[in-house]
Amino acid sequence: MDLALEIRNLQKVYANGHVALKGINLSVNHGDFFALLGPNGAGKSTTIGIITSLINKTAGKVQVHGFDTDTHPGHAKSCIGLVSQEFSFNSFEPVIEILINQAGYYGVPRETACRRAEEQLRQLGLWEKRSQEARNLSGGMKRRLMIARAMLHHPRLLILDEPTAGVDIEIRRMIWDYLITLNRRGTTVILTTHYLEEAERLCRSIAIISDGEIVADTNMRNLLEKIESDSFTLYLDSPLHEAPVIANAQLNLIDTHTLEVIVKRSSDLVKVLADLHRHEIQFNGIRNTSNRLEELFLRLVMDK
Ligand code: ADP
Ligand code: MG
Repeated sequence: MDLALEIRNLQKVYANGHVALKGINLSVNHGDFFALLGPNGAGKSTTIGIITSLINKTAGKVQVHGFDTDTHPGHAKSCIGLVSQEFSFNSFEPVIEILINQAGYYGVPRETACRRAEEQLRQLGLWEKRSQEARNLSGGMKRRLMIARAMLHHPRLLILDEPTAGVDIEIRRMIWDYLITLNRRGTTVILTTHYLEEAERLCRSIAIISDGEIVADTNMRNLLEKIESDSFTLYLDSPLHEAPVIANAQLNLIDTHTLEVIVKRSSDLVKVLADLHRHEIQFNGIRNTSNRLEELFLRLVMDK
C-alpha cells in the first residue's frame, strides 16, 4: 500500500526537558482522510511540526510519500500543504498576493498561480476579498485563506492543525465540504482536532493521542463501536418524585422536571421512551447529553 505518511518511534523532548512525544507510530494511506484527535497539550502540533520540518525531532523516523524528512527534506516538504494552528501570513499583504507569492516559493509559474488562486478563492468564498489586506479579514476568512494558500502547489497531502477551532458553525460546514471534495478528488487529508464530532463527520481513520502517546489507531467505525452507551436528558411535563425502573435503561431523576436516561445503545432509546409513556411520563423536550469523547478516553485508558 502506498503510504502518504509513515512515522516510526517518534520522540520529542523540548529544551526544557518536557517529553512531548513518547515514541509514537502512525501510518496514513494515500487517499485517506485521517484524524489525529486529542486534548490540548497531547502533542498534536508537535507531531505536525516535525512532519513539516518546522520542529526538530529528538529520535525516530518520518517519511512523507516515501521521502525521509532527514535525507530528503525538500522532497518531503513539496508533497505537503500545511495549514498551521497559528495564522502565518503577512497581514499587510493583499489576499491574492499571499497566494501567488506562496506558489512562487514552490516554483509554480505565475500564470498557473493566478489561475489556481482564483479557483481556490472562489471555492472558499473569498474571491470578493482578493484585494483586501489580510488583516481586514475576519477570523473565519483568515482560516480559509490559510487553507487556500496551502493548496496552491497542489500538494498530495494536506495537513491541517485544528482547522475549525474558533470558527463559527456556518464556516465550519463550508470548510468541511471543501475538505470532503478535495479528498474525493484524491488529496490525502490529515487533520488534528479535539472535537470527536468533527473527526466522526469527516474522517475514515483515526488515531487518538494523549499525553504524547497514541492510545488508539483504528478506523472510525471500530472506534465508534467502542462507545456504546448514550445519555439523554428529558424535560418532563409534570413533576416526578421517583424514577421508575424499566428494562434496558438507567434512569436518574435530576430534579422533579428533569430525567436522565442512560441507554446501552442509542437504538434502545425508542423502546425506553415507549416504556416511559406506559408509565405516563410525558416530556416536552429531549437532549442528547452524552459526553462521548470523555467516555471514550476513559475506556481507552482502562483498556490500556
Ligand atoms: P497540542 O497541539 O496537542 O495541544 P502541543 O504539541 O502543542 O500539543 O504540545 C505538547 C506538549 O508540549 C504540551 O505539554 C506543551 O506545553 C509542550 N510544548 C509545546 N511546545 C513547547 C516548547 N517550545 N517548549 C516546551 N514545551 C513545549
Ligand atoms: Mg496544537
